Amino acid sequence: MPAEATPPTGDLPPEEFRKYARETVDWMADYLGGVGELPVLPNVAPGDVRRSLPEHPPEVGEPLDVVLADFRALIVPGITHWNHPAFFGYFSITGSGPGVLGEMLAATLNVNAMVWRSSPAATELEELTADWLRQLLGLPETFDGVINDTASSSTMYALAAAREVAYPDAHERGLFGQQPGRVYASDQTHSSIEKAVLTLGLGRDGYRPIPSDREFRMRPDALSAAIAQDRAAGLRPVAVVATLGTTSSSSMDPVAEIADIAREHGLWLHVDAAYGGPAAIVPELRSLLAGWERADSIVVNPHKWLFTPVDCSLLYCRRPEALTRAFSIVPAYLSAPDGSETRNLMDYGLSLGRRFRSLKLWFVLRYFGREGLIARLREHVAMAAWLGEQIDASPRWVRVAPTPLATVVFRYVDPELDGPAQDARNMAILHAVNSTGSAYVIHTVLSGRVALRASIGNLKTTMDHVADLWTLLEDAAADQAG
Ligand SMILES: *Cc1c(COP(=O)(O)O)cnc(C)c1O
Repeated sequence: MPAEATPPTGDLPPEEFRKYARETVDWMADYLGGVGELPVLPNVAPGDVRRSLPEHPPEVGEPLDVVLADFRALIVPGITHWNHPAFFGYFSITGSGPGVLGEMLAATLNVNAMVWRSSPAATELEELTADWLRQLLGLPETFDGVINDTASSSTMYALAAAREVAYPDAHERGLFGQQPGRVYASDQTHSSIEKAVLTLGLGRDGYRPIPSDREFRMRPDALSAAIAQDRAAGLRPVAVVATLGTTSSSSMDPVAEIADIAREHGLWLHVDAAYGGPAAIVPELRSLLAGWERADSIVVNPHKWLFTPVDCSLLYCRRPEALTRAFSIVPAYLSAPDGSETRNLMDYGLSLGRRFRSLKLWFVLRYFGREGLIARLREHVAMAAWLGEQIDASPRWVRVAPTPLATVVFRYVDPELDGPAQDARNMAILHAVNSTGSAYVIHTVLSGRVALRASIGNLKTTMDHVADLWTLLEDAAADQAG
C-alpha cells in the first residue's frame, strides 16, 4: 500500500494542537468581544443548517482548517447568541471568561469522576466548590452538595430520595400495589417537576398542582387543604416542591410557611431555586429565600444566574443517605479494592460517568469572589428595577407580576382591545422587537393572558442595552397601534 493511502492513526500532534488551539482561542476572544454586534437570533428556517451540511460522514479525515472554516461559516450563523448582551429570553445567562477557561481545561483533562479513585481531585474539588457555594448562599453545613448537569436531573434525584423515604419497601418491591403517591407544587412550577414525578413511576396523577395567589406564589392554605383531602382519600403525600423564582414570573413561593406544612405532614420539601438561588449571595436579597434552609433538598443552577457555562446544577441535600439509597449500586469493578470509605459521586444520581464540572465553577467563584458576585447580581436587579419603573410610569404598559429578582414581566394594554386582541397585539410587539435582531425577549402566559418577559442576567448587559430594549418596545407598540 502506498504510504499516503494509509489511514492515519493517533491523535492530532501536540504542535498542531497548539496551532489550532491558539487560532480557536483567538476566535473565541473576538467572538466574546464582538457578540453584541451580531443579531441575537439567527436568520434561519428549520432545516437550513442541516441542509447546508453533507448528508454523509467523510470517508477520509478532513483538515482542521476546513472544519473550523465550516464552523464559522455554517454553524455560527445558526446560533442564537445567549452571550449577546441584549439576550433577555428565558433566563439570561453568562458563560463568563473564567468559566470558559475552566471548561476548556476540564475537556483537556477529560477525567471521569465516577468514583474517588477515578479522579481524586475532581471528586474533592466538587465537594469543595459545593461547600463554597453553600457558604456563599448562607445555607447550613448540614447540606451536602453534588453537581449534576441540569436542574431537571437534580430535581428528579431529589424526588427519588423523597420516594425512598415515603415508600421504604419500594426499594425492593417497586411501587406495584402500593398506595398512590402525591407530589405537590404550585401551578407555576417548572415542567421538570412533573417530568420527575412521571419518571419516578408516580404517574401523571401523582403530580398535584396547587393554586397560586395573585402574585403567582403557592397558596399555603390550598396546599394544606390538598394534603388533607388526599390523605382522606387514601393517597400518600410524598413531597412538596417550593419554587424560588418561577419560570414565568420569577415569583417566590412562601417557603417558610410551606416548610411548616411539610414538617407537619412529614413530607420531603424540595426547593427549586434553579434561577433564584444566587440571590441569597446578596445580603439585601437573602430574606426573599428565608425558610429554604429548612428544605430537605435544594437545587441551584450556577449555569443560570451565576456566570458558569452550561451545564452546572448544584443539588444540596440534607439527607444524602436517602439519595445514595436511591442510587447506589456498586458493581465489583467499581468497589474500592482496599474497602476505603471515600465519596463516590456515582452514588448520588443516575449517571455513572461525570464531567469535571466543578473546575469551571471553582474558576468562577475564585475570579469574582463574594464581592464581585454581589456587585454583579445587584447590578442586574437594579437594571430590572429601572425597566420596571419605565413600565409603571407608562400609561400603556403594565407590570403583570412583581419583580423580586431581575426578570420583568409586563404587557401592553390598549383599552380599546378585548383580551384576545390584546394578546395578539403583545405577540405582534414581541415579533417586531425580536425581528430587529437587536434584542430578544420571550412571552409567557399568566392568568390566561399573554405577557412579555425580559430577564436580565448577562455580564455584558449594561443600562444602555436595557434602555435600548425599552425604546424598541415603545417603538414597536407605537407602530402596531398604527
Ligand atoms: C431553568 C429552570 C429549571 C430547569 O433547569 P435545567 O437545568 O434546564 O433542567 C427548573 N426549574 C426552574 C425554576 C428553572 O428556572
